[in-house]
Amino acid sequence: MYAFRTISVIPRLPDSIGRLRELAYNLWFSWNDKATGLFRSINAELWEEVYHNPVQFLLRVDESELKTAAGNEQFLKQYSEVIADFDHYMQSKTWYDRQNCQNNGNNHLIAYFSAEFGLHEAHPTYSGGLGLLAGDHCKTASDLGLPFVGVGLLYKHGYFTQRINREGRQKAHYQYQNFDEMPITLVTDEGGHDLVVAVELPGRRVHARVWRMQVGRVSIFFLDANITANSLEDRELTGQLYGGNRDTRISQEILLGMGGVRALRAMGIHPTVWHINEGHAAFLMVERLRELVEEEGLSPGSALEALRADTLFTTHTPVPAGHDVFSLEMVDRYFGHLYKQLGMSREQFNALAHDRERNGFNMTMLALGASGFCNGVSRLHGGVSRTMFGHLYPGIPGEEVPIGHVTNGAHTLTWLAPEMRSLFDKYLGSQWSSNISRAAVWDKVNNIPDRELWEVHVGRKEKMLRFVRGRLVKQRMRNQETVNRINEVGSYLRPDVLTIGFARRFATYKRAGLLFRDRDRLDALVNNPKRPVQFIFAGKAHPADKPGQELIKLINDIAGDDRFQGKVIFIEDYDINVSRYLLQGVDVWLNTPRRPMEASGTSGMKAAVNGVLNCSVLDGWWPEGYNGQNGFAVGADWDFPDEESNDRYDFHSLYTLLEEVIVPAYYDQAAGVPRKWVRRMREAVKTIVPRFSTERMVLEYADKYYLRAMERNKIFSADAYRVAGELYELKQFLRENWHHVKITGVTTNGAESMHLGEEMSVRAVVELGPIPRENVRVEIAYGEAYERGLRHIETVPLAIDAGAGDNGGHVYTGSVVLPQGIFGYTVRVRPYSPHFAHKFELPLVCWAPVF
Ligand SMILES: *Cc1c(COP(=O)(O)O)cnc(C)c1O
Repeated sequence: MYAFRTISVIPRLPDSIGRLRELAYNLWFSWNDKATGLFRSINAELWEEVYHNPVQFLLRVDESELKTAAGNEQFLKQYSEVIADFDHYMQSKTWYDRQNCQNNGNNHLIAYFSAEFGLHEAHPTYSGGLGLLAGDHCKTASDLGLPFVGVGLLYKHGYFTQRINREGRQKAHYQYQNFDEMPITLVTDEGGHDLVVAVELPGRRVHARVWRMQVGRVSIFFLDANITANSLEDRELTGQLYGGNRDTRISQEILLGMGGVRALRAMGIHPTVWHINEGHAAFLMVERLRELVEEEGLSPGSALEALRADTLFTTHTPVPAGHDVFSLEMVDRYFGHLYKQLGMSREQFNALAHDRERNGFNMTMLALGASGFCNGVSRLHGGVSRTMFGHLYPGIPGEEVPIGHVTNGAHTLTWLAPEMRSLFDKYLGSQWSSNISRAAVWDKVNNIPDRELWEVHVGRKEKMLRFVRGRLVKQRMRNQETVNRINEVGSYLRPDVLTIGFARRFATYKRAGLLFRDRDRLDALVNNPKRPVQFIFAGKAHPADKPGQELIKLINDIAGDDRFQGKVIFIEDYDINVSRYLLQGVDVWLNTPRRPMEASGTSGMKAAVNGVLNCSVLDGWWPEGYNGQNGFAVGADWDFPDEESNDRYDFHSLYTLLEEVIVPAYYDQAAGVPRKWVRRMREAVKTIVPRFSTERMVLEYADKYYLRAMERNKIFSADAYRVAGELYELKQFLRENWHHVKITGVTTNGAESMHLGEEMSVRAVVELGPIPRENVRVEIAYGEAYERGLRHIETVPLAIDAGAGDNGGHVYTGSVVLPQGIFGYTVRVRPYSPHFAHKFELPLVCWAPVF
């Protein structure tokens, strides 16, 4: 290709509204509808045309329209209100300011690495829930004032745009993203040149420039390989999200992980906490390992301990096949040159992530091994992850495998309809939006009158139905369908009909087809003359996912069937904009994953923000959210032995629920208001919004992990990483000598039964060999007995009885008062150091033999 430079010729922004540009370049606008309202009021049509992208809007808008706005008193009033809100947001004291962490001269910073960020509809840097979660996480980090930066990749063609053709088939289009029209700016070096970082890929160096996006107070840095310093092929490396082959994937992940660390360093940014959001980003630890070994002179073992001090890994995938695994041949090809720099042999490097079952290098295992803290994204998913990785912790009870959970959330203001926001402003007090996770705030939802809540909902529903019809008309016009077919859309979908929405990625485990297993039953439901139901579907299937695409075709076929025409609808190109419309306007949000495949799910949380009722399989977050009154539960809360029996069970459960509960409840109306339904809506808002907000979520991350990781970073890195080195030595020593640890005798005063409140005393004789007593903990462990041991385990420490040596063994004693019930109990020894992040940081344990 030939070279060219670009230049933007832009309309002049009148001084009196000059800060519109600043608003346009801060994603703060994306959760402040007053701010977006400013742009919309200048030219509503253009606002839609640029898909709500204010930067593009300011590039395209007519200068005269800006002048008109600047001369309009009403506009100026709105403008100054928005600017005041913005300044207040950027400058006011935050939650983090009220913590004490930044005292003692520590400049803490959390770096959050993710392959996708879903922040706004105009920026296709996301494919689904993972990206949306990352976006909402960043927005909330800003709200709370956390010292926080994001790191990701900027995809020239983003994720694909979905078109549905006349046959009802999905066509994927990758649209060229003009970065100059996005709310991002290039990072430059001291000399004013574009900052460029490089990573080594087989036989070459690949370069990337760095873009900064401002999200409130938080910056996200995006790497972009589409620069002339790279070969044409390498310029495509950041072409698509989840595109290309295995080589593309590993190269992207090297760029994200290793390039991301280098970019931060080049900008003089030195995080003290590292958050790996899903395995894609795990190569960040390879770069950090290299830094610590090569630049700080640590041994690889000590360097790993230093990493573990302040790294958190969040896993999102409950299916083994969903974790990236690279062949050992590829690992050699991409990392062979690094082994020496890392001070490791090939075998040692592979051992960092060796997945025996899949015979390869597993990104999840890499991340697990290098992170002191790990978590899943719902209570259920935490359990699934502990089972999935339990083999890495032999001898340790499943529930004590050190993978915790932080249930996902949604950024409330991003997903809340403006009309609903006004209602909350009116009834919840002026401070509600800065106390979202406080349950007491939401008790006031009871004060919203039935009719008012219902009317706001119906208003949003009508808006959504117009949007859906508009999309369908556009699709049919583009597909050159007949005038009749196009006009027909006007009669589709009625606002007084119970409307059920289903929109999500069309991964097969989400079972978009569950409803369609019996079309006659669907017919009876949809075409009930007194109590009809209508369905709106949307969703993309990954271009390589054929079964997912077949499902889309199936639903479009059904939508075209005479019986369902205008009552079962599929709209194309599910994205943030479509998602917002649907989950602000449907009556019921349907979710039918095959349990336990949905790690968390978040769209249902966003629906609840708007008083929309969830009807969901008890998977992901829903077992924690559902309370019997705030929505509906499909199926059972257990796992099935095979897919077919699971599907059949859930299918019947879903229809029975719809026919016997949901439809009658919705149509039980007096004077146009379904009072009992509205009560459920209020219950949903009250019980779901505070707990499933990202405010609660990020506070939980801070409390469980970030603040502790900051503390650990300080301890581990002091004195040239002395503690990291010592901990490594200690672990080596314990591993080599653990075989000496034996419990040679356990005696108790307990008979087979005791009375409630009686104390059971325990005496254990423990041999430690050369292991110092301060490096172990001896404890009673008791819990409910089940086929694989004990569960709901509680522990009570035993103390050494220094006076009483027993044949070379140490004597430990203690006592416990058991609660009522039947328990199993035993004694165990585990390694201990005050520097362990958790109990089983070193997965060794010695259990008492039969006693
Ligand atoms: C919230 C959201 C998702 C994730 O929702 P799930 O419940 O996981 O399906 C995916 N895509 C978009 C556009 C969203 O807004």
